[in-house]
Amino acid sequence: MLAGLKRKLIMRTSKFLISTLKEDPKEAAVESHRLMMRAGMIRQVASGVYTWLPTGMKVLAKAISIVREEMNKTGALEIAMPMVQPADLWKESGRYTKYGPELCRFKDRKQNEFVLGPTHEEIITDIARREIKSIRQLPMCLYQIQNKFRDEIRPRFGVMRGREFLMKDAYSFHIDKASLDKTYQDMYDAYSRVFTRMGLTFRPVEADTGSIGGNHSHEFQALADAGEDIIAWSDGSDYAANIEMAEALAPDYARPAPTKACEKKPTPNCHTVDEAAAALNLESTRVLKSLIVHGENDENGNKTLVMLCLCGNQELNEVKSIKIKGIADPLTFATEEEINAYTGAHTGSLGPVGFKGRIIVDRTADKMADFACGANETGYHLINVNWDRDVQNYEVVDIRNVEEGDPSPDGKGRLHLRKGIEVGQVFMLGTKYSEAMHATVMDEKGNDVPMLMGCYGIGVTRAIAAVIEQYHDERGIIWPESLAPFKVAIIAIKLNKNELVKNTAEKLYEELQQKGVEVLFDDRDERPGVMFADIELMGIPHIITIGEKSLNDGMIEYKNRKTGVKESIPVGKALDIITSKFELK
Ligand code: ATP
Ligand code: MG
Repeated sequence: MLAGLKRKLIMRTSKFLISTLKEDPKEAAVESHRLMMRAGMIRQVASGVYTWLPTGMKVLAKAISIVREEMNKTGALEIAMPMVQPADLWKESGRYTKYGPELCRFKDRKQNEFVLGPTHEEIITDIARREIKSIRQLPMCLYQIQNKFRDEIRPRFGVMRGREFLMKDAYSFHIDKASLDKTYQDMYDAYSRVFTRMGLTFRPVEADTGSIGGNHSHEFQALADAGEDIIAWSDGSDYAANIEMAEALAPDYARPAPTKACEKKPTPNCHTVDEAAAALNLESTRVLKSLIVHGENDENGNKTLVMLCLCGNQELNEVKSIKIKGIADPLTFATEEEINAYTGAHTGSLGPVGFKGRIIVDRTADKMADFACGANETGYHLINVNWDRDVQNYEVVDIRNVEEGDPSPDGKGRLHLRKGIEVGQVFMLGTKYSEAMHATVMDEKGNDVPMLMGCYGIGVTRAIAAVIEQYHDERGIIWPESLAPFKVAIIAIKLNKNELVKNTAEKLYEELQQKGVEVLFDDRDERPGVMFADIELMGIPHIITIGEKSLNDGMIEYKNRKTGVKESIPVGKALDIITSKFELK
């Protein structure tokens, strides 16, 4: 009885920390951030670091349960690894220096070096090499749901790109590729179930492996305009890839032959392709874009510079560029001083003719003829330039972003672009970590072999923001039942002045609780408009209003947050009618 009472009390707004805001927070640039603040879900503590308030925590707990249930279904085993990790493990894997400034490094009082975990491949590989002794234990998949810290250069959009955020990370270990393939597919399927249960509209896409490494990967992208990623998908097949990975095929036409002699033209104060095109009275598609980046140091340790050439209206793809052997990773653009010292010209007047270093030309730029480019002399461009005739040593590589309407790389259909929020990613790591850290098992022939690994991440807090991006209106959040902080809200109008209102509300509240339904009973002595606005802002799916007037006719009001449809329902049938509206029974 006492337990029942306690449970009842915490679901009354008068005893709950509602924390809704009337005003939009200035710092919120996207809807999900604005609504999470206004609905009283989160508060910022430092840049990219948040507290989850009770309403937010209820949603987070539901998201965690969905993830945990689906992970457990795959047979993965839950563990909890520390956020604080010894730097030595990161030195062993080679990532201590490679990971860059996102990795928060610090020392304890004894000057031992540590990092705050941005991901846990090192710790898990250390566990595996100690705990997994025999191939009979394989495959094994371990996961945790735990806070990560990444010192993001630009934390923004609330919890969408935080510095501390909740991730579910799973790691699998295998003796052979077939077993890794199977777990990868199991995880892929589990991720599809997780995001479907969260109500997200999403697409799995081929993805780059970035600093995690490995050779095969998919991202799960929730489609939303607030997304920071761009995905390319084909209208003629199921091809879909992050734009970082989507291949731009070479145009299917031959390069036209040169028709005119090369000429030098003044282009004073032109710093961009568009300015040069305007000065030369040409379309930007006829002007070459020349960018200079760092190459790897030469054998004497000297810095080298590499020129990347693109058609003037197209964009450089940095991920493809880094993959070219000899280009520095991370991609580093040469400074104005470096460019000046090397070419004698300003950044806006660069071009491949006479350039001393390595030249890489995009596949589309390679088809340009009689084009314009910088003359490597400040304030001048060359026109009617032609490959081979005027520039001899160059390599042709795909280094541009695909564009709307490009042919799909699988030869079927055309590509379209959409923005996405990366809510999860699965990787086949191979033996990158197990080899570096000697995580081996003995195979049937008695040889010690490194285990094959996969790793699988879900951005739990980011996924919640993604759901809000997809489900909101001018009044607030519209939660799918699976994530709603409460399934039903009861708004009782002037309950302290009217016994019938009070008793009816208390009875319905009790009955719903008996059925195990999570109810928020708004028993504040507020104006009905204020209560209604808060409940709608918080996105509670089913809203009941109990007021004196309709109650005198034996009726109460029901409103569906998602459809906006209102109905009067008889008090006597309220429980049955309300529960019949539930999508998740
Ligand atoms: P991004 O490209 O967005 O920086 P990532 O590819 O570096 O992310 P992963 O290493 O794949 O991230 O991490 C697994 C998941 O963790 C991501 O799919 C994403 O949902 C989530 N995540 C990554 N970084 C952040 C962040 N700064 N804030 C919130 N969630 C994040
Ligand atoms: Mg990722």
